[in-house]
Amino acid sequence: MPAMPIELLGFELEEFRRLAQQWGEPAYRGSQLYHALYAEGRREFSRMTSLSRALRARLERDAAATWPQLARRYPSADGSIRYLLQLGDGKTIETVWMPEKNRQTLCLSTQAGCAVDCRFCATARLGLVRNLSAGEIVGQVLAVLADNRQRRRPRTNVVLMGQGEPLLNYEPTLKAVRLLADPQGMNIPLLRITLSTSGIIPGIRRLAREDRRPKLGVSLNATTDEQRTAIMPLNRKYPLGELFAACRAYPLRPRERLTFEYVLLGGFNDTPEDARRLARLTRGLRCKVNLIPWNPVPGLPYRAPADAALEPFQKILRRAGLLAFLRCSRGQDVSAACGQLASLTTPSPQPSPASAG
Ligand code: SAH
Ligand code: SF4
Repeated sequence: MPAMPIELLGFELEEFRRLAQQWGEPAYRGSQLYHALYAEGRREFSRMTSLSRALRARLERDAAATWPQLARRYPSADGSIRYLLQLGDGKTIETVWMPEKNRQTLCLSTQAGCAVDCRFCATARLGLVRNLSAGEIVGQVLAVLADNRQRRRPRTNVVLMGQGEPLLNYEPTLKAVRLLADPQGMNIPLLRITLSTSGIIPGIRRLAREDRRPKLGVSLNATTDEQRTAIMPLNRKYPLGELFAACRAYPLRPRERLTFEYVLLGGFNDTPEDARRLARLTRGLRCKVNLIPWNPVPGLPYRAPADAALEPFQKILRRAGLLAFLRCSRGQDVSAACGQLASLTTPSPQPSPASAG
């Protein structure tokens, strides 16, 4: 019986060089393969003409580099596109493409589903389906950039804010970040990659010790333990005091700031009192706050904040010297916005079937 092909997507440079040597090729052939896969974004071994014919034949026979399949494409009126991607085992995840004037931002999933159970989030309702591999995380970037070849701007930002809690899938996520950031490979600078966590404290402490780490975002969403536990049950295990201790100990590079995400839930955490507490909590931290009006998820007992509540909230933060931004979510019409990614939700506009890969 032929052996299973080796999955190469997710291999780091050294792993490619070692594989080349195991196959009796010089190590530099491994570097060429790495470059073809990640820097050139080639998908088929037969097109990797920098490689020898013999090596291409061996790769065809014994290896695979599996990109997630573009199963569905949901284009939003604002130019962003939500993708439903299918993994090798048939499980699905989502990735969002958000074009701007001079750049695009890609929102990636790190898990299929999520185990964290935040009460306001659509992904939570899937539960954890499974962790993604490093290859499945970087594969989202390769597949979605390729699908937007014509529209692509030179600069790409990445946020790990799709399905899943990245710090509960720590090693594959960090490996994916290193692959994304490698100047010899995909070349997306570390400071243009943001990992967002619901506040997994041991993960934050571990991340603090990495020498190659992305920027860190923390989903705060509430300013007292009682309030936060009501919408994020994980706050019982990782309460605000310890969370802020970990944030204060977190090393920042020059000009780097921590980001706090704060989802505004109408009538729950959007009062001037909340804003003042938020300003007090973050005092002295080099940070910014992204205010995200809650995006409706059918069946959940929350409401979006009133428009009239937004500016006063932001003003209080700004007056207290905080950098605070109102983030109008992209892709709301196609359920692509923060917290709406749940694979099953089909929005009202007709999705256009995506051409496979
Ligand atoms: N699990 C990580 C990253 C994915 S969630 C985390 O929680 O940080 C990405 C962001 O979407 C988080 O800041 C989360 O608080 C926010 N979010 C979740 N559901 C939302 C919703 N329905 N509307 C607006 N933001 C939401
Ligand atoms: Fe998971 Fe983040 Fe959604 Fe919470 S907000 S359930 S951590 S994806």
